[in-house]
Amino acid sequence: MYEPLCCERVEVELGSYLEDTLPRRLHLRVESHLAACPDCWSEVQHLRLTVTCLAEIPRRPMPAPLKNSLLRAVRSAAPTTPGERLTSVIPADPVH
Ligand SMILES: [Zn+2]
Repeated sequence: MYEPLCCERVEVELGSYLEDTLPRRLHLRVESHLAACPDCWSEVQHLRLTVTCLAEIPRRPMPAPLKNSLLRAVRSAAPTTPGERLTSVIPADPVH
């Protein structure tokens, strides 16, 4: 049989579980945990409700002035040179 999953591991996998993209064996392990754990089961119900609600929100195109303003802000904040890109992903004070 399957080794039981802890709540923390199930929580990590819930998004993929709901999208039905987990490997079959892991999907079954999550399902088995959900059947026995009211806390995780409740979390899944909340996530399902959230996904349903978000899907019902009509999509509207972003107004052009807002889109242009947002793009300008992102471009001005984004690193432009390879050195800047590297320092943006490497912590200033790396832990060894
Ligand atoms: Zn749980």
